[in-house]
Amino acid sequence: MTWLELPANHPFGIATLPYGIFSTAAEPQPRVGVRIGDLVLDAAAAAVSARCEYAVPALSGPTLNPLLAAGPSAWASTRQWLTSVLTDPAYREAVEPHLVPLAEVTMHLPLEVADYVDFYASANHAMNVGKIFRPDSPALPVNWKHLPIGYHGRAGTVVVSGTDVVRPSGQRKGPADPAPVYGPSIRLDIEAELGFLVGGATTMGDRVCVDEATEHIFGVVILNDWSARDIQAWEYVPLGPFLGKSFATSISAWVTPLAAFDAARVPLPGQDDPEPLPYLQSGSGVGAFGLDVHLSVEVNGTVVTRPEYATMYWSPAQMLAHMTVNGASLRTGDLYGSGTISGPEKGTRGSFLELSWGGTEPFTLADGTTRSYLEDGDVVTMTAWAPGPDGAVIGLGEVTGRIVPTR
Ligand code: MN
Repeated sequence: MTWLELPANHPFGIATLPYGIFSTAAEPQPRVGVRIGDLVLDAAAAAVSARCEYAVPALSGPTLNPLLAAGPSAWASTRQWLTSVLTDPAYREAVEPHLVPLAEVTMHLPLEVADYVDFYASANHAMNVGKIFRPDSPALPVNWKHLPIGYHGRAGTVVVSGTDVVRPSGQRKGPADPAPVYGPSIRLDIEAELGFLVGGATTMGDRVCVDEATEHIFGVVILNDWSARDIQAWEYVPLGPFLGKSFATSISAWVTPLAAFDAARVPLPGQDDPEPLPYLQSGSGVGAFGLDVHLSVEVNGTVVTRPEYATMYWSPAQMLAHMTVNGASLRTGDLYGSGTISGPEKGTRGSFLELSWGGTEPFTLADGTTRSYLEDGDVVTMTAWAPGPDGAVIGLGEVTGRIVPTR
């Protein structure tokens, strides 16, 4: 156990150890931090003090990209080193001066995002959207159970938790409108998702198979794929989401290493009707895992839904394998989202679109006001946790954002 005094079930105990990029007023340069309890370890400075200089290169820099680039053996050894210095009392004297209270830090975007892809891996979400947007067609598109559907998003507008989101403007045209109109979105929404950070570049033409995928998945963030449903509905046929999504995507400041989820791996809900093509199957079983991550979404302090990641149809490894099956290369800093996490019950739906059923069933907040979509000033906060080893709790932190009026 750690030499820090932490309750056994602290969500940022020794079994979690997420990475982020932080600065302080005294030392304003952004640098790698590791959260333990309500403290942040200045990782590279601690490595120097503890005479562990070999750990420094991957922990140096204003983003996590050097660590992402270092690959899976470096990820494992760095996590092992952090665990050692935070548990072995012999390191306490060297390490303790490099712990900063969380209240004193400013968190920054943890990575320089290379490419950003968003998937659509929840069957319940896909069916709900199908019923709302295409009531006269089958709920699931015909390709849905054969491949993880995705689209390329906008890497440059991925922002860290706490960043305000300006209400987007664009074109919209309802079915009864004679012509499109331009203006601020009137159907601004959230999508509760997990995001996966990719490290280890590959060469164009090569593929990453399902069972190799975890060698490229560094860690997990909570992701809010802000979505303007009115802009999206008018623009998405035939090429998919564009301006209805690209104005902002928020991620949590803390990146939880995939290694922290060993006790949270769960079987997938089942993919035997139909069986996916062989390239989407796991031979060894290594890539065939879901994650028992429990999310909660608050709007202005009212919990409006509790999505369960374990209900997702496609695994993170299958999504990565599909993303590269055509020979598209990976770059360090790639980020892919899971798609909205929606379970079968109403209280587990991961978007306002579904919670209000296309705006026909507004829901009520604690202050008595109702919502179908977001209003200016609304604050959306998503939190998540997963079971850790020996009863530990793995906290994923939060992703929060406030809607500000169109400029
Ligand atoms: Mn999405």
